[in-house]
Amino acid sequence: MAKQAGGQIDTVMQESRVFPPPSEFAERAQIGSMAAYEKMWREAAADIERFWGSLAGELHWFRPFEKVLEWHEPDANWFVGGQTNISYNCLDAHLTTWRKNKAALIWEGEPGDSRTFTYQQLHHEVCKFANVLKKLGVQQGDVVSIYMPMVPELAIAMLACARLGAIHSVIFAGFSAEAIADRNNDAGAKVQLTADYGWRRGQELPLKKNVDEALDKSPTVKHCVVLKRTGNPVHMQEGRDHWWHDLTAQAPNDCAAESLDSETPLFILYTSGSTGKPKGIKHTAAGYNLFVKKTFEWVFDYRDEDIFWCTADIGWVTGHSYCVYGPLSAGATMLLYEGAPNWPDEGRFWQLIEKYRVNIFYTAPTAIRAFIKWGDAWVDRHDISSLRLLGTVGEGINPEAWMWYHRKIGRERCPIVDTWWQTETGGIMMSPLPGAIPTKPGSCTKPIPGIIPAIVDSSGKPVPPGQGGWLVITKPWPGMLRGIWGDQDRYREQYWSKVPHSYLAGDNARCDADGYYWIMGRIDDVLNVAGHRLSTIEIESALVSHPQVAEAAAVGRPDEIKGEAVAVFVTLKNGEPTDALRKELKAHVRKEIGALAQPDDIRFTGALPKTRSGKIMRRLLKDIASGKATVGDTTTLEDYSILAKLRSEEE
Ligand code: ATP
Ligand code: MG
Repeated sequence: MAKQAGGQIDTVMQESRVFPPPSEFAERAQIGSMAAYEKMWREAAADIERFWGSLAGELHWFRPFEKVLEWHEPDANWFVGGQTNISYNCLDAHLTTWRKNKAALIWEGEPGDSRTFTYQQLHHEVCKFANVLKKLGVQQGDVVSIYMPMVPELAIAMLACARLGAIHSVIFAGFSAEAIADRNNDAGAKVQLTADYGWRRGQELPLKKNVDEALDKSPTVKHCVVLKRTGNPVHMQEGRDHWWHDLTAQAPNDCAAESLDSETPLFILYTSGSTGKPKGIKHTAAGYNLFVKKTFEWVFDYRDEDIFWCTADIGWVTGHSYCVYGPLSAGATMLLYEGAPNWPDEGRFWQLIEKYRVNIFYTAPTAIRAFIKWGDAWVDRHDISSLRLLGTVGEGINPEAWMWYHRKIGRERCPIVDTWWQTETGGIMMSPLPGAIPTKPGSCTKPIPGIIPAIVDSSGKPVPPGQGGWLVITKPWPGMLRGIWGDQDRYREQYWSKVPHSYLAGDNARCDADGYYWIMGRIDDVLNVAGHRLSTIEIESALVSHPQVAEAAAVGRPDEIKGEAVAVFVTLKNGEPTDALRKELKAHVRKEIGALAQPDDIRFTGALPKTRSGKIMRRLLKDIASGKATVGDTTTLEDYSILAKLRSEEE
């Protein structure tokens, strides 16, 4: 076959299973049929300003907006002239309704301690902490750096910042002192929030100690507020460090939400670093608020009596949008869990679902692959029949992992929403609407109303259906990033310059004959084998469909004849890594997706290198497969020892 134009990708995977929404689910759903979804999507696409403008009435406006969108590519101003406050929309707005005494946040700590906050109680805590921040001199536009465990105070701190118009920068509590200092300096943070320690797998993470080290190198930070979580001693620096409980004890209870312009910056969040050095993605208040509220309601088909649990850490965008701002804007009850999924044992998540009667469960493929590896017996010990909807986010899900989730957790009656989105997009961009869109394992199905994607080649021309290419978004949307912190040139260059008048997501995808989207992996990860461009996920999914394989990562390595050879890294569920199994896996891939994609090298490994958010870091594996020293950024790697192990395991 002739060598293809850049950008296009071959498809080798065939997935023909289709699961329509169960009729009991569809009958009660907010959007209950394909026809209803299509009508909504078409109307939105015909006039996105009218579409988002009419929904914006669901937010509280101190001052109404005059214009829905001002678009000077790549700079968007949504809800121009309007004034609102996302903390108001998440809290105060519910206090005049029956929801004021509804549980907003149910929290469980890793040791099993538990606290519940109603909307009124959460409002009270947020007001108090906003006053603490004020007292420390925090003003609109100041950056507050947050390095905290998954405790209610983390959400309270974010909402308190938002209340004042201060910008939060949440740093995942697994990061090192170096990573905190880098982010603090990049953002120019003024105040640091942290805790003495955090619980993780029964161990205490020394958060304050990391912060002490980081603050030695963060000259802009003047104050540090420390929450007492475990109570073990920490160093407190006179004048700079303050106890959370001391400051809140003295703070007044009321603090009106500031009336803020729609485009007031809300947060900076650094991407997870799968493809390179993390970037500080900037989001602003009003558009983001509307986008996460509506996507939460549509995708999770949220009903007032539901308990929603998103297992993501608040340190990632998923936690920002679907542990905090989306559910609270919608008046939902959510569960927040502090600790590890395998503490005190591998049944912890199922035990939590049973204890709190969770209805909607949203987690990541890396977690699902771990559940599969740990075994069904952990699930069987618990009553998880309260579940009615399941979701995934963060990476593509291999169809066989999807099928396990569907059968074992969903008992073949819970729809699965595979949600594709990014830190940059603010909220979910493509996903089944669970009462409307039949699902296909491994596909994120269709765009959310108001989102208009396309698949193009590297010249920006749309590729034919079924053909893989670059995924772009052709119209602005309210939740979109407004820039990279401190680097608008890079914002333009990276997202808005390669394909004319479109946002370049950085992922490859294809759209099938039914209009379903299939994410094929990162643009930079495409394998170029004998003139064919192959996607990572298709090869990986073929491997994962073998009963002994738990996880797989496919990368290209230079090859004189083929251009690139296919190298795969495999972790096993069971059995021994033998040459016979190697042969069997090669034959299995050939049978599943064809000779072209058959791996040249198969390496068995105990674990794959992942980001702290659990995504496979293929760029590091690529270096290993080609025998190169690792040159890229490794600051977001979860476990450095895995790299060394992989090198020593080399064939
Ligand atoms: P960096 O941009 O620093 O490399 P990152 O892209 O991993 O980091 P995130 O914004 O957390 O940081 O991840 C977004 C990416 O995750 C998407 O671009 C996509 O590659 C992947 N992704 C997220 N959800 C899905 C999904 N449902 N299906 C397939 N891929 C997904
Ligand atoms: Mg990215």
